[in-house]
Amino acid sequence: MDTIAAICTALSPSGIGIIRISGEEAITIADKIFKGADKKKLKESDSHTIHYGHIVDGNEIVDEVLVMLMKAPRSYTMEDVVEIDCHGGILVLKKVFNLLIENGCRPSEPGEFTKRAFLNGRIDLTSAEAVMDLISSKSEMARKNSVSMLNGKMYELIKNLREEILYYIAKIEAALDDPEHMSLDGFEEELQEKINNIQEKINQLIKSYDSGKILKEGINTAIVGKPNAGKSSILNMILNEERAIVTEIKGTTRDTLEESYDIGGITLNLIDTAGIHESDDVVEKIGIERAKSAIEKADLVLYVADSSTETDVFDDQIISLIDGKKSICLLNKSDLQRETTKQELNAHFEGCLIKPVILYTSAKNGEGKEELFEMIKEMFFAGEISFNDEIMVSNLRQKNDLVIASDSLKKVSESIENSMPEDFLSIDLMSAYAALGEIIGEEVSDDLVDKIFSEFCMGK
Ligand code: GDP
Repeated sequence: MDTIAAICTALSPSGIGIIRISGEEAITIADKIFKGADKKKLKESDSHTIHYGHIVDGNEIVDEVLVMLMKAPRSYTMEDVVEIDCHGGILVLKKVFNLLIENGCRPSEPGEFTKRAFLNGRIDLTSAEAVMDLISSKSEMARKNSVSMLNGKMYELIKNLREEILYYIAKIEAALDDPEHMSLDGFEEELQEKINNIQEKINQLIKSYDSGKILKEGINTAIVGKPNAGKSSILNMILNEERAIVTEIKGTTRDTLEESYDIGGITLNLIDTAGIHESDDVVEKIGIERAKSAIEKADLVLYVADSSTETDVFDDQIISLIDGKKSICLLNKSDLQRETTKQELNAHFEGCLIKPVILYTSAKNGEGKEELFEMIKEMFFAGEISFNDEIMVSNLRQKNDLVIASDSLKKVSESIENSMPEDFLSIDLMSAYAALGEIIGEEVSDDLVDKIFSEFCMGK
């Protein structure tokens, strides 16, 4: 494969910036522009050594650098890899990069290093996808899940399931080829039991997707309530900083603000919305519309009500909007004289599909904050994940293939039930086998591989 180069670190002034080169000519090209202090060529140096020296453009010194040498196959891509640690200036990095291009490297495509690691057989597709998830993980739990995927946990699981399926495909084929010596007596009961077993594991993975997705992307959380109930203040309480504008004039949170926040390993993507309230003010109206659409999009609604005032018809309007959503009701301003109690507010939820839990909070002194965080974790993850061993699928491509595999296995069960000929069983077993193969990248088209890696960041 040709030799590719990329600036792997962010292009902003920083201590160091790294350029990576991979391919057959990586070392030869690096030797053209690197002068080691010990005068030794990289070509003649041992693998996994670090070299101090200068990048030169003819006689001109471009930068003082450290060069890391990783010879094939012991490298990220399994090809010869050279990493140059430059100073982190934008101009410096661009200059060194351009020199590499002038000397025969090609600028890499996004994700091309990881794609090579995959194509050269060092990692499977789930591990490759986990690289990107790890880089973009926003919370501790997402990071942990990506790391276990990266270490091949998903790969192992899928590989084992495929092996089990393959055993039965082979058995059917052998019996069909040689019916005199291979009997399939009692085979169908055995197969059915196995299929149930495999299907259970696959369905478990499919089920994990909702939690996995939320773990990866965060819980989209809409904060709603009447003007002045304390929505912005609650947002600030959660964020622990003054991010939203808080004022005493009603309806000043006119637009939506978005902020992500890690609560004990889980990400909340918070959307602050204007109060849900009838209004003639055009700007305010747009805000209300957004609040309504925010509720539709939200995984969780935090409904803020003011405990120091009496509830009114607007609270009922909000309650009807959030009915059926996962929501938590925050009876805020608990530090003030109480005019509305939990019981009173609860009465408004009579007849609702889901009655939300009501918590007293004070955005002013932080009361209820920890309780709120615990409740959210309980709501989304209780009993579903232990955060230890279980694999959570957070990738839609993988989930879709799991669904295809599961559907194919269902067809196998139906064929057994209807006493269909064995080759029917084998066809559907094959398609389950193929769908699982696609997950780990063993039966995957070039187009799909290109698409997956094009979503990666540059230099990875
Ligand atoms: P929003 O319109 O719902 O976003 O409400 P704000 O967050 O702007 O709050 C409206 C007013 O209520 C501000 O003067 C806040 O300081 C005040 N406020 C908000 N939460 C509390 C609270 O828990 N206790 C007290 N005493 N005042 C609060």
